[in-house]
Amino acid sequence: MVSRVIPVDPFDLVIFGGTGDLARRKILPGLFRRFCAGQMPEEARIIGAARSDMDDAAYRKLIADAIKEFGNGFTFEAATLNAFLERIGYVAVDATGTDGWAELAGRMRDGTVRAFYFSVGPSLFGDLAERLHTHGLATDQSRIVVEKPFGRDLQSARALNATLAEHFREDQIYRIDHYLGKETVQNLMAVRFGNVLFEPLWNAQYVDHIQITVAETVGVGGRGGYYDKSGAMRDMVQNHLMQLLCLIAMEPPSKFEPDEVRDEKLKVIRALEPIEPHHIVRGQYSAGGDQPSYRDHAENPRSNTESFIALRAHISNWRWAGTPFYLRTGKRLKARTSEIAVVFKDAPHSIFGVDAGRHRNVLAIRLQPNEGMTLDVTIKEPGPGGMRLIDVPLDMTFADALGDEAEEVTDAYERLIMDVIRGNQTLFMRGDEVEAAWAWTDPLIEGWKQRGDVPKPYDPGTAGPDDSMMLMHRDGRRWRELKT
Ligand code: NAD
Repeated sequence: MVSRVIPVDPFDLVIFGGTGDLARRKILPGLFRRFCAGQMPEEARIIGAARSDMDDAAYRKLIADAIKEFGNGFTFEAATLNAFLERIGYVAVDATGTDGWAELAGRMRDGTVRAFYFSVGPSLFGDLAERLHTHGLATDQSRIVVEKPFGRDLQSARALNATLAEHFREDQIYRIDHYLGKETVQNLMAVRFGNVLFEPLWNAQYVDHIQITVAETVGVGGRGGYYDKSGAMRDMVQNHLMQLLCLIAMEPPSKFEPDEVRDEKLKVIRALEPIEPHHIVRGQYSAGGDQPSYRDHAENPRSNTESFIALRAHISNWRWAGTPFYLRTGKRLKARTSEIAVVFKDAPHSIFGVDAGRHRNVLAIRLQPNEGMTLDVTIKEPGPGGMRLIDVPLDMTFADALGDEAEEVTDAYERLIMDVIRGNQTLFMRGDEVEAAWAWTDPLIEGWKQRGDVPKPYDPGTAGPDDSMMLMHRDGRRWRELKT
């Protein structure tokens, strides 16, 4: 298969927080892969901007080391890396002061696409936006890329939107949710809207329920202090799981264009019903083996922050009335896996009798590991002895189906950054979407606080608290097995 890479226009990309963890683990290695793929033009420039004092050479060395460490086995020639590094520079900048801004402004070229990636803590977003203006770096065509978390509740998200809006138009603001950059997530839209096969069945009449799972095996580890102020609801559900839910549930947009897609996603969030407390299960992992408990990690022996959440959501519109959406996410679980499963209803009548058992079509969209999709279909068990039915998966693992081209589909960040350069906001969250998502989650979080809700303990290496199973069992359903 021939890979098609469309080069982007020349650009100046400034990465604020260019020495930080995210820049070293994701952003720069991703940009290097785009460079190797031939997508980055000769005139592209990347400028790291952070607090540390260092020159271009020291920064290039930092980035070379990061690419080697976090390249995920990506192989390349030393000369290729050197050619990439030549495009990279560094300016020490104080986001809250005046140091470095004049030098940074001096490095910008006129008439070139300008993008500023805010890979710093959210408390600095407003300072950066303001200084980009006061120091004359922001042009009418500049873009800013904003990392999560985008607020910690509706009020703070509104305030942040308002601050950014003082200096940038909405079409200049790219709020990143890297889940939207995943190949499978985009494939979900291709499958839904590119085939005639699924869309007629994509509604409450044929879909029994939908499960969205994002499970991790790691604990909060060194991020315990930060995570403890957040929890699974804020850290995962309000953004990543909500975005997946939107793409699964939205009406077909008239075009695959930014506002058409985001208008439809927004309608889904606004149609979410408030959740009853007994339709949410919060959990917190206990100690296990030689691993500490959540509370040890968080260094807060009384912490009531959840490291696991499972909930049942309903969307009140014609398409989905009566079809539950079950969402779960957690840390220190049995397997690292993320998937969306569309579980279709039973055939209305079984001509094979009760002995044939209950069989259901399930479309499972795997985000990790091994991005791909499977469709369980019911067939006859081979051999003599009557009509016994079994479910077999039609498997489309991208790495198998696409061969070498699957190499191209690795990381979400690199795709999203290229979209920023192209000026395509389709896979970025709009301000009103983020606010609507907080408006839905805020009362749930507030309710726990008022009730003094304590999360249920669960053993590491399991599928979470038993109550999560009960959430499903009560409805005569069960979670799909967590497996890698
Ligand atoms: P980090 O602490 O590793 O890096 C922070 C960076 O900001 C450093 O380069 C530091 O020099 C710079 N910085 C801090 N104060 C500054 C100032 N006053 N002026 C200029 N530069 C300053 O953080 P990180 O993990 O890279 O995260 C960056 C952002 O990305 C955060 O908003 C985080 O929530 C978000 N994020 C990170 C990850 C991840 O995997 N690390 C994932 C998703 C989102």
